[in-house]
Amino acid sequence: MDEKSIQELNRIIRTSKHIVFFGGAGVSTESGIPDFRSKNGLYNQHDVKFDRYSPEYLLSIDCLIDHPNVFFEFYRQKLNTAGIEPNRAHYKLAEMEKAGKLDGIITQNIDGLHQRAGSRNVQEVHGSTLRNYCMKCHEKYPYDFIFKSEGPIPKCPKCGGMVRPDVTLYGEGLPQTAWIESKRLVFRADCLIVGGTSLAVQPAASLAYDFSGENLIIINRDRTSADRNAALVFHENISEVLDSIELEE
Ligand SMILES: [Zn+2]
Repeated sequence: MDEKSIQELNRIIRTSKHIVFFGGAGVSTESGIPDFRSKNGLYNQHDVKFDRYSPEYLLSIDCLIDHPNVFFEFYRQKLNTAGIEPNRAHYKLAEMEKAGKLDGIITQNIDGLHQRAGSRNVQEVHGSTLRNYCMKCHEKYPYDFIFKSEGPIPKCPKCGGMVRPDVTLYGEGLPQTAWIESKRLVFRADCLIVGGTSLAVQPAASLAYDFSGENLIIINRDRTSADRNAALVFHENISEVLDSIELEE
């Protein structure tokens, strides 16, 4: 990272009044959670069993309804985040919020790692694997319910309905409250840091284009379509860049 960009990053952080972080899979890869779209990501792991289904289908509402056995087998194998810990990027963002330098986080990740690192205002636009609910009676169940339940399909002990994760599946709309709160955060922000996302997934990615504040900062390993609108672009490791932010005591 060049010294000039770091200085400029710190100048922007110091002078901004409403900073918001908008993040994607790249924030969690250092914790060991595979990126859905990268070369070694979830979609490119060849698992004989699921070969005849497309990855999008395996995480779709159609699969959950029509082939729940397949859905839950894939979900249990690929999306169990037990034993996974927040990394330096998560902790730095939590520190920034505590220091009054971050209004909130908007995340496309479903792993709950920001909250575990201590962040309070976290808008999960794709939901969370840590929450589950019964599709029939809407009773809520703890984070490990699906992974610990017996039988191929997790069933509600109260009514026998199917218990599903509170994540946004392909074919479903985004959770309204989180989406509205995210829009509100971006609208108010004078600095938006976009990190660890290639801005490929809509409508979530549209948040980066909605931003009309002063400084857009992009931190992502690869180029993104919003790079040319940014005040600063880092094609580097996200926690290294965040670590170079100096917070005043
Ligand atoms: Zn129920």
